[in-house]
Order: sequence, then C-alpha cells, then structure tokens
Amino acid sequence: MSDCIFCRIIRRELPGKIVHEDETVTAIEDIRPQAPVHLLVLPKAHIETLGAVKPEDEALIGKLFSVAAKLARERGLESRGYRTVVNNGSGAGQTVYHLHVHLLGGRVFHWPPG
Ligand code: 5GP
Ligand code: ZN
Repeated sequence: MSDCIFCRIIRRELPGKIVHEDETVTAIEDIRPQAPVHLLVLPKAHIETLGAVKPEDEALIGKLFSVAAKLARERGLESRGYRTVVNNGSGAGQTVYHLHVHLLGGRVFHWPPG
C-alpha cells in the first residue's frame, strides 16, 4: 500500500526509529508512547486488521508475538510484566490500518483496559 504510514516507515520513505528488522517483520518506537517502553511490531506485508489475516499468514502472526517477546526480554521487561495489544477497528481504538502489535512496558497496567 503506497500511502500507508507504516508501509512507508518500513520502506524508509518516512522517518521512524526502527528497533528490529528481519525479512518479514519490522518493529519501531511509537511516536506517542503510552508507557516508558512502547514499541509497535509490524508485518512488512500490508495486512489491515486481524480480520484480514489469511491462513497463509498464520506463521507471520505468530512471529509478531515472538519478536515482541524478544524485544521485551532485551529491555528487561519480563520480571515486571508487559502488555501486548492489538486494536481492531475504530471502536477498539485502531487508528492505523496496518496490523501491529503494541508492546508496552515499564509501568503498571490495569485491567480491564479502558
Ligand atoms: P492504533 O491506534 O492503530 O492501535 O495504534 C497506532 C499507533 O501508531 C499509535 O500508538 C500511534 O501513536 C502510532 N503512530 C501513528 N503515527 C505514527 C508515526 O508516524 N510513526 C510512529 N512511529 N508511530 C505512529
Ligand atoms: Zn501498510
């Protein structure tokens, strides 16, 4: 998708602080962090929401979470805990329609989320 913000960051057409990159996944720092650590783990492929995931994407979706866990481990978040979030659709707070896993850490998180 040529005009998608996250596709453009992945292609380095827009600035973004990239913290992980491999063949299929890029992770960046969120521009408006909601916690001391707030990263976004993105598939390089443009998938709009979880609802658009196809059977052939299942390994990729699993990888988003294993990359999130690796980044959490690297940042020393495991002992205190951290949160991974996928917002789907406007009612759930999705604002960028390129699937992403939020990795939030470094503070206490309450349940249920707002
Ligand atoms: P959503 O609301 O779709 O779950 O999450 C989108 C996230 O992307 C938000 O946390 C927002 O701060 C972040 N975001 C929006 N635009 C940009 C951008 O241009 N660069 C980066 N790094 N993050 C962005
Ligand atoms: Zn995209």
